[in-house]
Amino acid sequence: MEVIKISPRGYCYGVVDALQLVRQTAKDPTVPRPIYIIGQIVHNRHAIEELTNLGVITLEGPDRASILEQVNEGTVIFTAHGVSPLVKRRARERGLNCIDATCPDVTVTHDLVHELVAKGYYILYIGKKGHPEPEGVLGEVPGHISLIENEADVDALVLTPAQEEKLAISTQTTLSQWDTRRVIEYIKTLYPHAEVHIDICAATQTRQEAVAAQARGADLTIVVGDPRSNNTNRLVQVSEELAGVPAVRIEDLSQLNPAWLEGKKRVAVTAGASTPSQLTREVIRYIEQYQPAAQQ
Ligand code: SF4
Repeated sequence: MEVIKISPRGYCYGVVDALQLVRQTAKDPTVPRPIYIIGQIVHNRHAIEELTNLGVITLEGPDRASILEQVNEGTVIFTAHGVSPLVKRRARERGLNCIDATCPDVTVTHDLVHELVAKGYYILYIGKKGHPEPEGVLGEVPGHISLIENEADVDALVLTPAQEEKLAISTQTTLSQWDTRRVIEYIKTLYPHAEVHIDICAATQTRQEAVAAQARGADLTIVVGDPRSNNTNRLVQVSEELAGVPAVRIEDLSQLNPAWLEGKKRVAVTAGASTPSQLTREVIRYIEQYQPAAQQ
């Protein structure tokens, strides 16, 4: 079986740095215990299990502020997705030792929305509802920003004349660049003067562009990643919509159904930015060695 190993794929620098920071923290005897991560450090079950084995506790909940309510002592680690100033302040008020693993690319957006609001802009932020990254960004400038997921949200906007007069657009880092442009174009039909800032990070863009270009000609694309990882799900979408190749997402080799490979000649493999490389290597090795049932 021919395997197209999409490149680049898998761990981005933001995830590598965040995991490294947690590992270092777990090994440091001077860090107050217990050590908690406020939400999943990255959206990947395997990566979380590794940290649990180092004694680091991952807490989950509907949002970062309510997760923090579960902690009364020790150290809290904020994830690569970033957190709002309210969450940081509450952690300090509770006397907790805080370690911030926010990706620098997310910090760029946090800084940008402050700059825009200081200049008098109202912000339309394109992102996923319920995802921790928008939660952090919206919490930076409450009252000056609206979360937009799709065209229907644009239609439902109720803006004051002052907000409408000075509008800016910003985005989550892990969106599909093609979907994002579509929503921006729609916003521009109603608000042509809106100033556009696309904050999709370089790691997300290059992984999406690699799938769009390299999966072409494959019979199937397999995307290795967690169902809660936004950038992973976007790679499935890019394969289907941009490369014209059907795609399936699996968490690891245990979820690969050999029947999917029957009758296929070329299979492309990629992975989300939060997927450990080992999981993807196992999938690639399996497909390379796969023999169709008739030849076995
Ligand atoms: S996907 Fe982009 S923004 Fe998110 S952690 Fe990776 S580099 Fe940072």
